[in-house]
Parts: sequence; structure tokens; C-alpha cells
Amino acid sequence: MDIFVRRGDTLWYYSQLFHMNLQLIIDSNRGLQPNQLSAGQRVRIPGFVAQDYRIRQGDTLWAIAHSWNLQLDVLLLANPGINPNQLYIGQAIRVPLRITWRLVQGKQHYDYSRMMRDISRLETVYPFIRVSGIGNSVLGNEIPEVLIGNGTKRVHYNASFHANEWITTPVLMTFLNDYLLSLTNQTALRGLATNRLYQQTTLSTVPMVNPDGVSLVLNGPPATEPWRSRVVEFNKGSTDFSGWKANIRGVDLNDQFPARWEDERARNPKVPGPRDYGGERPLSEPEAIAMAELTRRRDYARVLAFHTQGEEIYWGYENMEPPVSETMVNEFSRVSGYRPVKTIESWAGYKDWFIQDWRRPGFTVELGRGVNPLPLTQFDEIYQKALGIFLAGLYL
Ligand SMILES: [Zn+2]
Repeated sequence: MDIFVRRGDTLWYYSQLFHMNLQLIIDSNRGLQPNQLSAGQRVRIPGFVAQDYRIRQGDTLWAIAHSWNLQLDVLLLANPGINPNQLYIGQAIRVPLRITWRLVQGKQHYDYSRMMRDISRLETVYPFIRVSGIGNSVLGNEIPEVLIGNGTKRVHYNASFHANEWITTPVLMTFLNDYLLSLTNQTALRGLATNRLYQQTTLSTVPMVNPDGVSLVLNGPPATEPWRSRVVEFNKGSTDFSGWKANIRGVDLNDQFPARWEDERARNPKVPGPRDYGGERPLSEPEAIAMAELTRRRDYARVLAFHTQGEEIYWGYENMEPPVSETMVNEFSRVSGYRPVKTIESWAGYKDWFIQDWRRPGFTVELGRGVNPLPLTQFDEIYQKALGIFLAGLYL
């Protein structure tokens, strides 16, 4: 919520008043010089919303503050110009309310538009996060990246490279929401004080790498030609897209990376289809290009790509992974119960390319168990296991 600076106020005073980590307030107001506030300037306080309240018989500001567990000055700040001695019945005031609940409801049909709405709600309530587009899908959907944290350790998580593995998106979005709640309310997550993670790491997430594919699986073929007919053709005439992993051009985005791409192509289909076709050349698809460019720009210390299914974690590539990858995967396994798998007969994936080009830890995490798309009845269990991995990816 927004407040307006009075003479003599400081961000440090606001952090005391709202019981909010000072760094989160500073990062929520990036245009502001923290030591040079001037009266009338707008300051955003993260993790709060302003709730409307109407004055009733017998109310005093002090009593209202007390009953909402707020300091009196919070109410004065939120209601500039109010005269506490001349309240009248029916008068509208704003009462700041600390947000302690999730904005993201992940256990549902979670498509691109829902994700975009949730990201913009998170951005409004938690302005210390940074959101930007990393590129557009074939159908022109902007692919968002969400950044949280101030640290030098750059960690990357992505989800929904594969269309029918879309449940990975609400799982990751739920984690972002829980991390933000834990930061603003200074509550531990799995016993972990997250403010340290915020200071030490910068978490970059791309919660939906393949928005067109996810839309196809969840909402059916696009409204416009030629894609409407083409996807049915790629799908061998079937209108059941539950087996679809690729982007809208029938290219498997996780077979697009220049890491033994030719070997992967040799064992895979040579024409567009629901899965495993790696395109005519590496990085031919805009979604894969966007991920490659982002990865080069950000220079991550480690990456985790979330897929379904199998409850396994792939951590090797051609013995190019650093020794610490094994230490890390053992911790991921400990906190999730998932099985570490060093290598499989598969190349040209995002994590393969990352390990090959950076020689840093890269992982493919296969969430859940069953037939894709995994049913939402698994959501809570998947989230509980994934949460350990999300946190370990930051604290390790
Ligand atoms: Zn996958």
C-alpha cells in the first residue's frame, strides 16, 4: 500500500512502524533516495493492503489501532489530513492490513492468463520483486521473468518447458508467494529465516517457458489460423492434446539447446509433433532463444528446470558437471525423497547446455509421479516435496 511522507519521516521509522524489513521497503521504492525523503513523496509499503473502514459510534483512532494490532501513527499515516479528535459516524478511513494469506491459488486449471494476473498482483503487493519480459512466444505471448532478492548468488528456476507438465507453473508460483509471505511477515519457511536468503541470493524464475503449449493443453487449439489446423495435423488428426509437450510449432523446447543436439536429433522424430522433435537447428524457436539469452545475460551460479514426472533429479551431463553438483543433488534428495540420477540417454536439454557451457550445477527435477498431465489431486504433495528443493537451491 502507498503512504505519503511527512516532514521528519524516514524509511527506517516506517520499517519500525510497520514491522517490515527495511531492505524490503528500500527495494520497494527503487526510484527514491532513502536518505533524502521529502514531504508528500509516495512510499510503497510491501505486504500491506489498505482496507476501507467506516467510523462507528464510540470509535476512536486509538481503539481502532489497538483492535487491528497497529500503532496509532500507522493510521495517521494512512489517513493524511484526518483529525483524530473530530471523527464522525460513517466517515471512511483506510486501515492498513498485513497480508498473511496467499494471493496465488495454485491448485487449479492454471493457464497463462491466470499466471499473468497473479504475477501482476504479486508485483502490486510486493513491489520489491522485479518483473520483466524475456521475449515472446510464437503466438506473441510475453514470457515473464520474476526476480526476488539482492544477493550475489544468482539462482535460476524455470517451469513448463513442456506443455503438459504445466502443473510445474503453479507449484513454482506458490513457492514465490510463500517466499514473499515469509519475507514480509518475518516468519520462517520450513524453519528457515528467509531474510538471509534474500540478502545472499538473487532468485530468477521463469514460471512458464512455453505459454503457447500450455494454452494448447489447457484450453485447446488457438483461435487463429494457420495454427488452429496445424496443431491438429501435427497431432496426427487428434484433438486430444494431453500428450503435447512441444511449443505451438511442434518443436520440443527441451531438445533445442546446442549440447550434442545432432545426437538427440538422430534418435528423435524428424517432423513437428507433440513431443521430441528438436527443430531443424538448435535454438530455432523464440522461447528457447529467450531462455538462452536470459541465461547468458544473468550468468547463473546454478539452474533448476522443473518438469514432471518421476520423482527423480537429473544432475549430470557428460561428466562436465562440477563435483559440487553431487553434494547438491544429495541434499535435494534428502529434503524431497526424490532419487538422484546422474545421466540418461538424452541430450540438447536446457540443463545439459548449461552444464556444458558454464561447468556449473544444473538440474532437471521431475516432480510427482504418474501420467502427464499429472492430476491436481497431487498438487499439495508435489508442493511439499518441491518446497524443500526450492529452499535448498537457495541456501546451499
Ligand atoms: Zn519435461
